[in-house]
Amino acid sequence: MAKKCDICNTKIESTFLNKLLGTHVKDKKGKKHFICPECQKKYGSKEEMLKNI
Ligand SMILES: [Zn+2]
Repeated sequence: MAKKCDICNTKIESTFLNKLLGTHVKDKKGKKHFICPECQKKYGSKEEMLKNI
């Protein structure tokens, strides 16, 4: 199943091993958010990414 970046809404590609590119972060409530590689680079830290979701 295709995932979307929770910041910019871009579709996140997965590799042939079904590993998602980019990363995921959990917010304070324990909800998982997927982040594309571009946003990961742009925001750098988990805290910055969560601020922009
Ligand atoms: Zn993104």
